[in-house]
Amino acid sequence: MKIRIIGWVLLSMGICGTAQAAVPLKIVRGERDTVYQQKHYIVGVTNPGNRAQVNGKSVRVYKTGSFGAEVMLKEGANSIEVIVDDGMGQNEKYVKVFYSKKRPEKLYTMERAKKTMAENELKACDFNAVSKEGAYLQYGDGDDRLGGSKMGFVDAGIVFKVTGEKGGLYKVQLSQNRYAFIDKDYLEPTEMTTQTVNTGSWHVGKNGKYDRVSVSLPCRLPYHSWTELDPTRICVDVFGAMNNSNWITQLNDTEMIDYVDFLQVDSDVYRVIIKLKQAYSWGYSVAYEGNNLVINVKHAPELSLRGMKIGLDAGHGGKYPGAISPSGLKEKDVNLSMVKELKALLEAKGASIVMSRDGDQEPTMAERKKTFKDAEVDLMISIHNNSGGSPLVEMGSCTAYKHIVNRELAAMMQNRLTELGHKNFGLIGNFNFSLNAPTEYPNVLLEVLFMSSLPEEEKLADTLYHKKVAKQVVLALEDYIKAVKAAQQK
Ligand SMILES: [Zn+2]
Repeated sequence: MKIRIIGWVLLSMGICGTAQAAVPLKIVRGERDTVYQQKHYIVGVTNPGNRAQVNGKSVRVYKTGSFGAEVMLKEGANSIEVIVDDGMGQNEKYVKVFYSKKRPEKLYTMERAKKTMAENELKACDFNAVSKEGAYLQYGDGDDRLGGSKMGFVDAGIVFKVTGEKGGLYKVQLSQNRYAFIDKDYLEPTEMTTQTVNTGSWHVGKNGKYDRVSVSLPCRLPYHSWTELDPTRICVDVFGAMNNSNWITQLNDTEMIDYVDFLQVDSDVYRVIIKLKQAYSWGYSVAYEGNNLVINVKHAPELSLRGMKIGLDAGHGGKYPGAISPSGLKEKDVNLSMVKELKALLEAKGASIVMSRDGDQEPTMAERKKTFKDAEVDLMISIHNNSGGSPLVEMGSCTAYKHIVNRELAAMMQNRLTELGHKNFGLIGNFNFSLNAPTEYPNVLLEVLFMSSLPEEEKLADTLYHKKVAKQVVLALEDYIKAVKAAQQK
């Protein structure tokens, strides 16, 4: 079934009082008061099969009914002629755009400037605060559309020394030489104090589907974890801790953990090192049980799609449509359709699927993550489609990951997507997308194509194409499983 195009129901009234259905024409991009760039895009929508002209030049009308052109503007007022015809009649519009070579200087009142300076100023503070559920550390006070760059999530109940505030952030001291930032919403003032403490004994063993490392501490301390490659090691820096672990019990029943070790990185920074037996990690979590720091390392699943539990996330949903294509396709619908195709193919291969949404719901990022974490998925794929750049050319696919351990999986996805002839928009590392943050399972984000690109919109409007994309994703998963198996046999 083709997704219907909503843009072409526009009728315009004929002159002389008689109502007459004109050839549908809607301008969806390019109607602007003033622009500061000479190169200007006009995008319109008519019925599929109609012809279109922009400033007298014929342009391609895609199967979606969308068409577009690049126009070089002259300085001052421009009137761009857009004509569509269906062989019986025609419709025309004049798009007015004013092109100014000089961008106006931004005018700031003194008051506004002062306010901006005050907002950007780091104010000194001196109090202690305790973390709430969902708290995460940021490396710095930077910001973009995805928020500041995350170091990682931390458990609740950790006391931080707050030394400054800036906008919505607190600056917290982690150790003598290290600080981070936390969103104010996740800290609450406390009477408890911070201190540098001695670490206690460790215990390493197996617990169900996980290997478990437990480090006893007298109180909850801040930490930062990551996975290294070659060799594959899970590392956790614990801030405010000095080694006094003179007893590390290691049971030999662990499946993933080869050995554990520690490093006193600084006089008050203690690193827990977990060397894995295998090159590939299937995720881990760090949390406190009482005051014990517990790192659960997930066992490898059965290395076959048969028996694997895969999380699928269709981006956006409900009142959040995501990107909208020129002809009116909504990203949320395209994402869900691709996820459903992928689900069918994976289930046919014996995998079990966990979806963050299976209809037009709008779960929050936290709810999506909880769905996958609670289900203990072996791997998660989030599907989106992109927007931006030129509407006239193909923009391509991109695949994103945050943690370096997920790079290979993302690269395999990217390779399989570009096999469809998609341009390579890039493999994006350290992507600050919320669903790339979890460490509990490998995860990647696919931005399959661009909703805003007319040639790509044409592909995205075709559900048969969604199946093609799903097939490539399955191939990439099989590539990954093959690589894991090969590494095990070494
Ligand atoms: Zn999206």
